[in-house]
Amino acid sequence: MLKFLHKIMSETKVRVRFAPSPTGPLHIGGVRTALYNYLFARKNNGEFILRIEDTDSSRFVPGAEEYIIESFKWLGLQFDEGVGIGGQYGPYRQSERRDIYKEYVKQLLDAGKAYIAFDTPEELDAKRKETENFQYDATTREKMRNSLVLSKEETDSLLAEGKQYVVRFKIEPGREIHVKDIIRGDISVNSSILDDKVLYKSADELPTYHLANIVDDHLMKITHVIRGEEWLPSAPLHVLLYEAFGWTDSMPQFAHLPLLLKPVGNGKLSKRDGDKLGFPVFPLEWHNPENGDISSGYREKGYLPQAVINFLALLGWNPGNDQELMSMEELINLFDLTKCSKSGARFDYQKGIWFNQQYLLMQDNMAWVPTFDKILRDNGIVSTPEQEAKVVEMMKTKVIEYFDNDGNKKKRNISFVSDLWPLTKFFFVAPEYNKEDKFVAKNWKENSAADMQQLAKLLGTLDDFSVENQKKHIDAWVENTGIRPWNAWRVALVGTGQGPDMYDLSAFLGKEETLNRIHSAIKHLG
Ligand code: GLU
Repeated sequence: MLKFLHKIMSETKVRVRFAPSPTGPLHIGGVRTALYNYLFARKNNGEFILRIEDTDSSRFVPGAEEYIIESFKWLGLQFDEGVGIGGQYGPYRQSERRDIYKEYVKQLLDAGKAYIAFDTPEELDAKRKETENFQYDATTREKMRNSLVLSKEETDSLLAEGKQYVVRFKIEPGREIHVKDIIRGDISVNSSILDDKVLYKSADELPTYHLANIVDDHLMKITHVIRGEEWLPSAPLHVLLYEAFGWTDSMPQFAHLPLLLKPVGNGKLSKRDGDKLGFPVFPLEWHNPENGDISSGYREKGYLPQAVINFLALLGWNPGNDQELMSMEELINLFDLTKCSKSGARFDYQKGIWFNQQYLLMQDNMAWVPTFDKILRDNGIVSTPEQEAKVVEMMKTKVIEYFDNDGNKKKRNISFVSDLWPLTKFFFVAPEYNKEDKFVAKNWKENSAADMQQLAKLLGTLDDFSVENQKKHIDAWVENTGIRPWNAWRVALVGTGQGPDMYDLSAFLGKEETLNRIHSAIKHLG
């Protein structure tokens, strides 16, 4: 009884995998897929596995695997098993599992569920030219060069000669194949439309994606296959493969996630959309080893990983109410695969910027400092963390103007630490006074120099330069004289119409710097 219970429990342990092919940088859609796997695993106390599907040697890109691993480190999505971690079902890199696949290919061949095909690429090309929509299947395989047509002796002698071959899956026509999908419901497909897929190639002694994927999902005891919609057309074939191996009872459940759509227009999100509209489609910056091209990444653009996670989580799923800001813990609690949408999710990158703003504002001012300090240093400014944190406090809710990729002037809230810099230079460097500046032209008037003289005189008498003490004295002076010093004072300290409250600013600058700037403005603007 105990043994039986143990069996059920260990069999039902949720195990999911993220199975990227290292063919380049991980696309943001792949990150969303991994995130949903992660949330599902954590929600169900299951395991989250990283498997590297590198059996297509022609598409292998150096550095891609390292990039994938670094991306998840940055995002804080931790794998329980897999490449770089280990586990009892390894190796987790498919190129290290050749012998395992060979065994399973042989099993299908011995059972008559697959066959050997010797057709050369040239022969196949010729067929494709000759027959429109040529497909290698039950209707055509008899006219081709394969072990179903050739005698056993002929086949063996070709193999003995070392002729290159592939192993094809023998698909029986005319059968309804049912794919159960958690998101899409039951899908049925007639097997006659499928071709006899290549499962193995003698040339590199490697299986194709389909075979390796199924064998590994089985051996690694994967319970749920959660992946992008682009893999839906492969699912019927995968169901047949499970059946051919006799593994139908332990077949994982499928969930094919909705496509990520372009921010504007029709079709799926592409790198070009990102280039055109100015947002990254990769988690980290990617340096293409082939041509040296650099593609921008969310990390380098100044996004916080939590903001990226929250943004992606809502592309194809929502908790069933309007809640948008969710911590990882809340996401795990609320996540529900059955509530994912079937239809594509528009990649609203502006929403991603909004999430970043929200997450930045939730942070301590001090958390902004390392990045801000680096930007300041890059601009030749050395300050202290305390001063920088004060500037963050004064400026973090301001609006910036920027140019979109079409050159249109736009406004938005500060959403990245780097947005601070153009708005905060004057905190650290005295301004240059420019009479042409619109704000200066409008607000530095005939009497401004005289007003500022008076103000400077008053400020010079203050020993306590706190906001409260300045306010006490200046408010009284304003009351007595009727002088309204605010805009000219702003011109003197900032050089234009930006910045925080004047008392906050002068308290930040301190008495000496405040007086210097007032005198300098009088000198330059007269
Ligand atoms: N290697 C495939 C990919 O690159 C995995 C697809 C799957 O999850 O089955 O996405």
